[in-house]
Amino acid sequence: MANRHIIDVIAGDGIGREVMPAAIRCLDKLSAVHGFELEWRERDWNSERYLRDGAMMPKNGIEQMSDGDAIFLGAVGTPEIPDDVTLWGLLIPIRRDFMQYINLRPTKLLPGLEARVRGVDSIDLMVVRENVEGEYSEVGGRVYRGRPEEIAIQEAIFTRTGVDRVARFAFDLAARRTGRLVSATKSNGIIHSMPFWDEVVAGVGAEYPQVELESVLIDALAARGVLHPSSFDVVVASNLFGDILSDLFSAVAGSIGIAPSANLNPEREFPSLFEPVHGSAPDIAGKGLANPVGQMWAGAMMLDHLGETAAAAEIISAFEGVLASGNSTRDLGGSLSTDDFTDAVFDRLGA
Ligand code: ATP
Ligand code: MG
Repeated sequence: MANRHIIDVIAGDGIGREVMPAAIRCLDKLSAVHGFELEWRERDWNSERYLRDGAMMPKNGIEQMSDGDAIFLGAVGTPEIPDDVTLWGLLIPIRRDFMQYINLRPTKLLPGLEARVRGVDSIDLMVVRENVEGEYSEVGGRVYRGRPEEIAIQEAIFTRTGVDRVARFAFDLAARRTGRLVSATKSNGIIHSMPFWDEVVAGVGAEYPQVELESVLIDALAARGVLHPSSFDVVVASNLFGDILSDLFSAVAGSIGIAPSANLNPEREFPSLFEPVHGSAPDIAGKGLANPVGQMWAGAMMLDHLGETAAAAEIISAFEGVLASGNSTRDLGGSLSTDDFTDAVFDRLGA
């Protein structure tokens, strides 16, 4: 019997609703070609629902998705509603309740595109970001509000389990790629949590003699990311540092419309979430201008996670092929609409 994967689809708002159908069309074709089944459960958990019902998702939304195999997200949010609503009403509960403690963001200089930095002709790296602890904690507070002596305290939380598992994921990934891992640190300024991070990462590294570990201060790493992005393969970083680095690398490699992101529960005990990095882009929504590559690439990461590795590789080479032939959407200097670009990718699948 064919493998069957149940996927919760949250197309969301703005261009999310344009790039999602584009990606689903291609993934459906791949499932027919490669002999597996995809069952899409569409969820209208978007800003309209929030404005109508006062909540982005139903109270038992998490429960409704818990028997699924993956979550495929477009983009949620519109200028009319506060960021808090999409974050705390949808994205953070999903990330936390489904223990998606890895955020994985590939950056690749795609064929036909030019890096923003002169002389850089290849970028192919992965940022592994710790996704549930670290600097983004709720521990802290403010006292003496509004007075000159006001104090704000924000604690960072690093646990041995948390650092160990993200390090392990990164070493595994590096071992499957080129065997080079860079760990972001700031142990010269952040004198408790960062030396602890370094120590745990190095400890895990002792189990991976085939991987060369380099610990680099975040400031130097950022500069090297701009000047020599080709010098990286896998980068592992805390929540804050990983957040910054993944934006930095995708900016260096080109358009925001192409980058994907995965929030992973590597044990597969809960569904993982796959999405493009870009937002709902209200300025171009509804005009057929959205680049669907980020959503398609996120779809490839999802197939890979579901074990459909051949199909995953095929959709990547299909959109790379279209880009290499000089065809692209407007954001990349081309003239194709979302649908025309999608047609071109679709035609290459199963060929
Ligand atoms: P959000 O708050 O939802 O993250 P944002 O204001 O950060 O949204 P994005 O939606 O991430 O903005 O995108 C920034 C700009 O980049 C958009 O206004 C749009 O012009 C462009 N852009 C983003 N995604 C795409 C895409 N897929 N195709 C073409 N252009 C895009
Ligand atoms: Mg944004």
